[in-house]
Parts: sequence; structure tokens; C-alpha cells
Amino acid sequence: MFKTGSLLAIILALACLPTSAFAQSKQQKRVAITFDDLPVASTVQTAEGWAEITTKLLTTMTRNKIPVVGFVNEGQLYRDNKLDPKRVALLRQWLDAGLELGNHTFSHKSLHAIPLAEYEADVLRGEEVLRQLTAAKHAKLRYFRHPFLHTGRSLEVRQQFESFLHTHGYTIAPVTIDNSEWIFARAYDNARDANDVTATAQVAEAYVPYMESKFAHFENLSEKLFGRQIKQVLLLHANSINADHFGDLVAMLKRRGYKFITLADALTDSAYKSPDSTTGAWGISWIDRWALTRKVPDDFFKGEPATPAFVLKLAKVESE
Ligand SMILES: [Zn+2]
Repeated sequence: MFKTGSLLAIILALACLPTSAFAQSKQQKRVAITFDDLPVASTVQTAEGWAEITTKLLTTMTRNKIPVVGFVNEGQLYRDNKLDPKRVALLRQWLDAGLELGNHTFSHKSLHAIPLAEYEADVLRGEEVLRQLTAAKHAKLRYFRHPFLHTGRSLEVRQQFESFLHTHGYTIAPVTIDNSEWIFARAYDNARDANDVTATAQVAEAYVPYMESKFAHFENLSEKLFGRQIKQVLLLHANSINADHFGDLVAMLKRRGYKFITLADALTDSAYKSPDSTTGAWGISWIDRWALTRKVPDDFFKGEPATPAFVLKLAKVESE
């Protein structure tokens, strides 16, 4: 009896060991890529500029067979209070490329800044065009992404809003690879608008290594929290830096061993069923939320890569 018990203890201990480095390197990494603030988030405001950004992004996505979900702010479809058919046509281009669109509210307000009823009205106003476009493709509008990843300052508001989303047929699109790509995008736009070729190139050169360090960080947290590489969800924006450099980012991810999956596939990972009772003021990665809910020690989060100072300065952003 004693011997069997010891053997059992050893087997159990082995089963509980963290995945070995060898197994980690062999495990397939998977990521669903999402783009926010469609049609375009840039200081570029011309119809030609928006068309160019959209075409470049879609070319990289289709060439690499990446099943992206793009999240739309319908408020951006209007010019002088009138729906701009050219901007609507850009969204149709996404659907024609076989990609999916989701709701990111009409006017990109924070759930932490306005009353719930007003926020919900903004969600419904944000699906008027989307519902028509997706219906024309016999597709379903099924995903919602919170602006700023602000999901509610109290559990009560969060739960009320989540039941509203459920009633309207929406699934929340979480983000695990959270990052400050939007600051790089702003720096890139500012440098280009100032005709500073050197600074524009410097921002572009720093962009992919920064994103790779973010992936390394969240892969590490995934390993620490789940003992494996979960199916990740990346947040990017439909901006100029990605129009010009999304291809470089994709090449980095391929080199890192990533396969590109749909958001629906990513959400089948049991990690997304982890409890999350966080209600902080920030918009953070769902991995951080699950970890905070589990009450991990503070040093669990250490080593998160920072945005370089010169990028913050060019972007005119005080801090992340
Ligand atoms: Zn956004």
C-alpha cells in the first residue's frame, strides 16, 4: 500500500510540474488579430488617404490569410452630420475581403465616463450601418469591443451591460496582448506630418521589436497562469503605421511560431472562461484581469515592456 501510494504521489507530482522548456518551444502558438477604430484611425483625413490605408491593410491580411475582425466606430462614417458613402464603402471592402466586422460603439466613449443607459444607446447607434452591411453578406453581427477596454467600474454595471450585450446577440471580444501600438501610431503620424523622415523611420524601426517584447511578456504570463500557451487575442488599430508595417509585424509573428486563427476559435480556449471580477479604472489585458482575480502576488506582473521615451515624446503622450 505504502509503495503504491508513493508511486501515485510521484506520478501526481510529475503531472503537476510546469511544462518543460522543450514542450513550450514545441507548442503551437495561436493568435486572433483584431483591429479597432475602423474605418481609419489616423491624422490623415482625405478620402484618398483612407482608401490607401484600407487597401494596404487588407492586402497584407488577405495575402497572409489572416481572419481579422475589425471593430467599427460608426460615428466616423459621418462628415458634416451626413453619412459618407465613401467611408461606408471602406467597410464593404473589409467584408468583401472575407473579414468580419464588429461593434466598437458609435462615438468611442468610455463606459467609465457616461451613464450606462447613454452607453447602451451609443452601442445601438453604432450598429445601424453595420447590421445592413453584414445582412447583405448573410453574415451575423456578433462581436463587441469596449472602447479603451473599459468594462465597468462596478460589478453591477458590468453585469448589467453584459446582459444587455447578450440580449442583443453580442459576444465580448477580449484582448490578451494589450499594448501601446496606438502611441506608436500617433508618433508615426506626427513625424510624417512634420515631414521628419528620420523620426518616421525611427518609430517604424522600434515598432515591431516593441510588439515582439509584448508578445514575449504575455506568453510568459500565459505560461505562469495556465502552464501553457493560450490562444491569444491581439489588439491593433486601422492606422498608418500598420498600413505601412503590418506586414513586418506578421513576419515577426510567423518567425515566433504563430498561426493566425479566428476570434471564434480563440474564444474556444478554456482560458476565456476564467473568472474575472476586476473593476479597475484601467483598460488592461484579460490575462492581467484573470491574474488579479486569482490574487497573484504583485511581482507576477513585473517586466511589462514600456514604450520608448522618444516615441511617447513624438506622440505627445505623457505616459502610457
Ligand atoms: Zn478604440
